[in-house]
Parts: sequence; C-alpha cells; structure tokens
Amino acid sequence: MDCLFCKIVAGEIPSKKVYENEWVYAFEDIAPQAPFHVIIIPKEHIVSAAEISSKNSHLIAKVYEAVAQIAKENGLENGFRVVNNCGADGGQTVGHIHFHLLARRNLAWPPG
Ligand code: 5GP
Ligand code: ZN
Repeated sequence: MDCLFCKIVAGEIPSKKVYENEWVYAFEDIAPQAPFHVIIIPKEHIVSAAEISSKNSHLIAKVYEAVAQIAKENGLENGFRVVNNCGADGGQTVGHIHFHLLARRNLAWPPG
C-alpha cells in the first residue's frame, strides 16, 4: 500500500521512534509545531477518524493508552494537547489516522 505512515511502521522510511507496542507506533514529527511534537498511529491502516467503527475502535483506545504512557515517560506533567486532523477541511495531509501529541509550550485556545 502506498501509505507514508505504513512505510514508517514497516521501517521502509526512517523515523525517530518514541514509543512502540503491538498495536501502536509513535515517532517525532519531521516539522515540529511545539518543543515536544510526537505523532502516534495505530499500526493497522485506518484512513481517518471518519473511518472509526466498532471493528477498529479498540486501536484508538490503544493510541490513548500510548498517549498517557508517553506523557509519563517524557515528564509532560504540565499538560499537553492531542490533535487529530480529519479530512481536507480538518487539515489532514497524510491518509493514515494519526494523533499529534504536542507539549512544552503554552498552546493557544481556540486553535484557529
Ligand atoms: P496532518 O497535517 O496530516 O495532521 O499531519 C501530518 C504530519 O506528519 C505533519 O505534522 C508532518 O510534519 C508529519 N510528517 C509528514 N511527513 C513526515 C515524515 O516523512 N516523517 C515524519 N516524522 N513526519 C512527517
Ligand atoms: Zn497506512
């Protein structure tokens, strides 16, 4: 499959791994928008949040378990933000569902 993040999971494209388990892979974003910016993905290809169903939602739970674990391991006790961009209007540029974990700066709200 011609998917950038599937290739990253397979090791065909190099990435800086932050966390990995049976279901989830996390790596540093190539263009960080905060001092701490990690992308968390399910290893299984899901296109976007619009494709979440009862068949694959356990993988999204695994992503959020990884969020908490990565936050603990990296001392993000001051807080963080998780962002999922979905579809064209949502600003999604890679068609494999992913969650941005942003931290170590004060993040504006609303995001604009
Ligand atoms: P989106 O805009 O789809 O929500 O987020 C895609 C993210 O993937 C962007 O923040 C972008 O910087 C990141 N990204 C795109 N290509 C690569 C890559 O080859 N390696 C890494 N580590 N991140 C990438
Ligand atoms: Zn994929």
